[in-house]
Amino acid sequence: MKKFLSGSSLYELTSYAKSRQIPAFRAKQIYSWLYDHAVCEPEKMKNLPAALRLMLQEDFYAPGSRIAERVNAADGVEKLMLQLYDGECIEMVILPAADGRITFCLSTQVGCPVKCRFCASGKHGLVRNLKAGEMLEEFALGISCAGRPDNLVFMGIGEGLLNFEELAKTLAVLSGEFNFAPRRITVSTSGYVPGMKQFATLKKEYNLAVSLHAVDDETRAKLIPPHLRYPVKEILSAADEIREANGRQYTLEYTLIAGINDSLEAAEKLGRIAVSHHAKVNLIPYNETGNEFCRPDKNIIAEFEQKVASTGARVTCRVERGSKKTAACGQLRVMRMQKKEEGI
Ligand code: SF4
Repeated sequence: MKKFLSGSSLYELTSYAKSRQIPAFRAKQIYSWLYDHAVCEPEKMKNLPAALRLMLQEDFYAPGSRIAERVNAADGVEKLMLQLYDGECIEMVILPAADGRITFCLSTQVGCPVKCRFCASGKHGLVRNLKAGEMLEEFALGISCAGRPDNLVFMGIGEGLLNFEELAKTLAVLSGEFNFAPRRITVSTSGYVPGMKQFATLKKEYNLAVSLHAVDDETRAKLIPPHLRYPVKEILSAADEIREANGRQYTLEYTLIAGINDSLEAAEKLGRIAVSHHAKVNLIPYNETGNEFCRPDKNIIAEFEQKVASTGARVTCRVERGSKKTAACGQLRVMRMQKKEEGI
């Protein structure tokens, strides 16, 4: 398999240049295009000779991905559907905030093996892991549309900690070559404990978001199939290990689903868990995707939030953004797969 140009180190580029009898200064030029300018397409590397640009395209995936579709929502959210070198698709999302700051939400896998019952991304299971080069291409292609972001969240399609090695490489290049501050990067997990333990070993100030969604194992079992589900107690203990290793307060993500996990009793327990684990809570009212789950009504959401806050926990409530049809993660990809199946 060819390598990805994105993610190449200066050492690798210099070795490549040597093997192809290209002057060493060209390696530095390529490196600068990749990381100073976030350009991963050789045809845009204007100070390289045409023959070298062609050679890069032949020798590397450069890039392996292309923007297949851009979907704009009324509130400024933009979704990019990226087609990968093998024809598979992933999504990345560009989220502008009211203060002008921009967040990119990146995917880590094609599909997702966790198969949370409420999630469009997990619906068809895992196709494959993304390579570090592909995650870095998501970042670069996002920049080509919206400029350099202020924050990055790995909360798109996939369970990143099941693709730990490639994710760790990606994080190293982002915080190294791209000079992106680790505390501006958040990695989300569905509570995959072995991956959380590996993440703790990085000892860098990356933020962690734990998708807890339930305060007890019985309720969690209604939302997450057993093959990759870990007990709440073990998840919290692994998250504490990460906090102790990197000194960052973590977030408990909690998708609020009507009649499943939206009782005031659950709210109180969630608040108490957050306080005792020095964590914050982020509530996400469920974005309906046409399955059996529903979003609780506004009053229930507000009461739930107040109850969590009454325990002394820090709590925020995030409303999913993007047009109704495509707001939840993975929906664009699922719509494309359906079109393919229907021969449209
Ligand atoms: S919610 Fe996250 S972990 Fe669960 S299936 Fe969807 S992408 Fe995977």
